[in-house]
Amino acid sequence: MKNNMRIKRGVAVSHGIAIAKAFLVDATEYTIPERQINSEDAAQEVGKLEKALHNSIEELKIIIKRLQKKSTKETVPIIDAHIKILQDTYLKSQIVEIIKKELFTAEYAVSKTLRKYIKALSSVDQNSFWGSRINDIYDIERRVIRNLLQEKIKDISEVKESVIIVCRDLNPTETALLDKNKVQGFITDKGGRTSHTAIIARAMGIPAVVALNDITLDVSSGDLIIIDGNTGMVIINPDKETIKKYSVISKNFSSYEKNLLNELKDLPCQTKDDHEITIYANIELPHEIPLITQYGGQGIGLYRTEWLYSEAGLLPSEKEHFNAYKKAVSILKNKKIIVRTLDIGGDKLEPGKENEKNPFLGCRAIRLSLQNLNMFRAQLRGILRASNYGDISIMFPMISAIDEFRQAKSILEQVKDDMRTKKIPFREDIKIGVMIEIPSSAIMADILMKEVDFCSIGTNDLIQYTLAVDRTNEKIAYLYQTSHPSVLRLIKYVIEQGRKHNKPIAMCGEMAGDWLYTVLLVGMGLRIFSTSPIVIPEIKKIITSITLDEAKKVSDNVFVLDSAMEIDKYLRNYTKNIAPQLFE
Ligand code: PEP
Ligand code: MG
Repeated sequence: MKNNMRIKRGVAVSHGIAIAKAFLVDATEYTIPERQINSEDAAQEVGKLEKALHNSIEELKIIIKRLQKKSTKETVPIIDAHIKILQDTYLKSQIVEIIKKELFTAEYAVSKTLRKYIKALSSVDQNSFWGSRINDIYDIERRVIRNLLQEKIKDISEVKESVIIVCRDLNPTETALLDKNKVQGFITDKGGRTSHTAIIARAMGIPAVVALNDITLDVSSGDLIIIDGNTGMVIINPDKETIKKYSVISKNFSSYEKNLLNELKDLPCQTKDDHEITIYANIELPHEIPLITQYGGQGIGLYRTEWLYSEAGLLPSEKEHFNAYKKAVSILKNKKIIVRTLDIGGDKLEPGKENEKNPFLGCRAIRLSLQNLNMFRAQLRGILRASNYGDISIMFPMISAIDEFRQAKSILEQVKDDMRTKKIPFREDIKIGVMIEIPSSAIMADILMKEVDFCSIGTNDLIQYTLAVDRTNEKIAYLYQTSHPSVLRLIKYVIEQGRKHNKPIAMCGEMAGDWLYTVLLVGMGLRIFSTSPIVIPEIKKIITSITLDEAKKVSDNVFVLDSAMEIDKYLRNYTKNIAPQLFE
């Protein structure tokens, strides 16, 4: 007899299978009544606020101490940032003003003040770096309010058995405290590829599915859950057959991954007929860098640098840039490192500034850098100085036209000249590339190719801009089709132009790490992949199992099909024969 098994689909952000009981984390949100006080009670409320701020800071200090003993100590700077926010005198003065002038309770004043910042950040792409920082502010708000209400913080590090964490979205402080031996996976209502949950899950190497809408309403603590981090499927209260099936898949998948890694890590990445393919890694946070050699990656194909802009305050100095990139060199020695200049949006640097109506079409990435030249120059100088120590290249994001590239390059040349005058050494032959992630630059690839040293195709954005589908909107997620024929045509054209002009073309969007498309991309002529480090063995497995001719035939067959659905079906059947374990 079937039980009340239910299946939900979300966005798979960290692969693998997990089977365990649900642990529902505090899904309740505090609703703070808009309660007024008498003017003579204001001083008392301010006293309460001061005590709550103090207690919150003390709690965070204890957390930092505990973290320093754990493997997750790279999250210490995030908690440290929470402390700094709580110590900020301007923030406190804003809250006190609401208490004293508007005569509201301390908890309402805290909520009102922090919600103002949350509102400013809400219009930003929730998958973007700044969008995902909203969670930090919520985290801070909850902590202070709990302290004001004198409630004890529920500590999810106290989890006693193997569990799957179910929550709206994980808070940075909560995730940092998780015990990796107990937590088998994450499922969340919200989140996206760059959300905190996704970053932590990948770093911890545990399966995670996000953007499940209302999973916290569908699941109760103690329900048995299966997460399929390969397909984005979540099964609630599976029946016996399903449990058995996934237990086998999970066991097989773990030993398959272990064997793959042992088998392939030190082998060259080439097709059966000896054509070399390069696999680099995408890095979002510095602690992931050691994973590259662990998983057999050949360097960094995309070093996202957005993390620097939070850890070091809003604008990192040249020295902070330099130290970060030099550190990557010291870990990777002579391996290639492609540093992408900042990719965040205009309204994200100045909370409170009027939000853009269409942030994805707004002052983002290179546009922002070109409008904030001091900030841009500091990053370029930091990269150039580090280039003196290793094989560092520079990549500009969101280039939409050749003049934008020329403008960025001329700033770079000015910075180089200045450094030459000051006798600051840097790599004179440093390579300059662009991300092709806007259809206009894909269509103009023939022109761009004449002036750039290399390109990297950013499919995450290329798909959203080609198909006019917001990559963060769950309602239209079915239209976000990686293999849409129009997207494939653009990619093919870029690869062809790269070949014609003898310029290396890489792909660093998520498509490069999706093994469904590996054969197709090799067949289309892609020779450089850049993926999340943990999927390198799977991609390498597929590459080493095919010949170039076979891949070309697959590509020819795909290009006569006219819909993403048909293409995916054909590729699934084909790749399943090569690596059945990846499709179980
Ligand atoms: C992309 O757009 O494919 C990409 C790699 O950049 P990001 O995901 O950081 O926008
Ligand atoms: Mg992009």
